[in-house]
Amino acid sequence: MKKNHHRIPDSETEAEAEANNRQMGRRNFLKFGAASLAASGISSANATDVLLPENSESVSVDKSQIITSKVDILVVGGGSAGTIAAIQAGRTGASTMVMERASYLGGMTTRGGVCYPGLFDAWGKQIIDGVCWELITECVKMDGGTLPDFSKVAKRHWMNQIHINQFLFYILAEEKCTQAGVEIAYHESPQQIKETEDGWQVDCVGFGTQRRVICKQIIDCTGGAEMAGMLGFPRLRSEVRQPGSIQFLLGKANNPGRPTSDKGAGLLHAIYVHGADSTNSRTVTEASITGRKAVLDKMRKTNQRLMHLQSEPGFRESYRIQGDTVITVQDYTSGRHFDDAICYAFYPVDLHTKNGVKPKPLKPGIVPTIPLSALIPKGSRNLIVAGRCVSSDQLANSGLRVQAPCMAMGQAAACAASLAVKHGTTPGEVPLKEIHALLEKHGAIVPKKS
Ligand SMILES: Cc1cc2nc3c(=O)[nH]c(=O)nc-3n(C[C@H](O)[C@H](O)[C@H](O)COP(=O)(O)OP(=O)(O)OC[C@H]3O[C@@H](n4cnc5c(N)ncnc54)[C@H](O)[C@@H]3O)c2cc1C
Repeated sequence: MKKNHHRIPDSETEAEAEANNRQMGRRNFLKFGAASLAASGISSANATDVLLPENSESVSVDKSQIITSKVDILVVGGGSAGTIAAIQAGRTGASTMVMERASYLGGMTTRGGVCYPGLFDAWGKQIIDGVCWELITECVKMDGGTLPDFSKVAKRHWMNQIHINQFLFYILAEEKCTQAGVEIAYHESPQQIKETEDGWQVDCVGFGTQRRVICKQIIDCTGGAEMAGMLGFPRLRSEVRQPGSIQFLLGKANNPGRPTSDKGAGLLHAIYVHGADSTNSRTVTEASITGRKAVLDKMRKTNQRLMHLQSEPGFRESYRIQGDTVITVQDYTSGRHFDDAICYAFYPVDLHTKNGVKPKPLKPGIVPTIPLSALIPKGSRNLIVAGRCVSSDQLANSGLRVQAPCMAMGQAAACAASLAVKHGTTPGEVPLKEIHALLEKHGAIVPKKS
């Protein structure tokens, strides 16, 4: 693997980049600053204090303002998988930071409005437990909700999804992170990653924040394996990807933010956003605008009022990593028990297309497993992923991507990364028995061969 991973061209040193920034700042000042000065009537001699955004010095990189954070584990992405990974990593005693580009935790569970996580049970038994179940049950209890009876096999798969209050979920998740000693960095994203002797140097940017994170392990929970991509590891992406969906609620009364039913925001409407892609700020912007326009069109067509709108569309699919194991749909539908299985998954094969979706339920008794080797980008060290970017083909992924397995992967990835820190090794070299034992100590269910 290449030692250094620069996002700026190799020829451009930091000093040159800084000089270029200054030059650009000066050019912008000359272009726009002088005109604004003329318009405002302020003379250029005393203008430095009032024109900070266009002043070249204010945008140049001041090294003394870079915050350095030294942690054992950096979790990038605080969504369904990352939230659980961060709590678990903190609870093992590893110093942990979770970095999330948005302003709250939960990802698709909260921002996407998919506040009905599943599936934690299969064929009359609970199959996913641990940190995620603790968070979900606490959320349901505090909200006065009810939990399904897992001893009864649901007639339709969605019947045993758990309806949660998305707002309460992310506040509770934040509390659990804080209690576990996890540092939360909202509004920030990694820009550049360099490999170091015993881990990584990750340069990150937020608004008004520049941070250098020195860490031993990265857990990539970005949904689209963005850290693996930034590091140049191969990723899989289907030519035709599933649409995303924007969730909203139309109604008759002007009662914004309040669903009409007392069953909660789980009964939102949804419109497909074809081409929705979570890869970067530009694609997310495009999907958000397209989705919101569709909601506006629908309001006008049906003459209804807008009661609720999620802040971002839900993204079903983008990149997946390529691990030593790529879970195939045959593995998934046959319930293959991988030798290095770390958790279960359960959901129909659920591929959305432009014509809709026809879920294909798993055959009675089938419970697929997820192996550790599908969480590790091929050829990588000190890097592990969790969530919908798990190494898998598109059809297998259409079932694996749901929240309960994403959360279970998050807990498993955190246990593997924490043990790797403890032993000074990489997650793929930690004895599986130790990962299993740590998972069980923290309440998770580890697949057992029958
Ligand atoms: C419309 C829709 C309906 C669904 N229905 C169901 C259902 O019924 N039941 C179910 O269980 N699942 C359902 N799913 C699937 C499920 O919600 C997602 O697949 C799952 O939540 C993905 O979890 P994740 O942690 O991999 O990604 P996410 O939850 O998307 O989390 C990724 C996080 O990483 C952050 N991030 C990304 N890049 C960066 C970066 N560079 N720096 C910092 N942060 C970053 C994002 O902001 C996000 O918070 C549905 C999904 C959609 C879209």
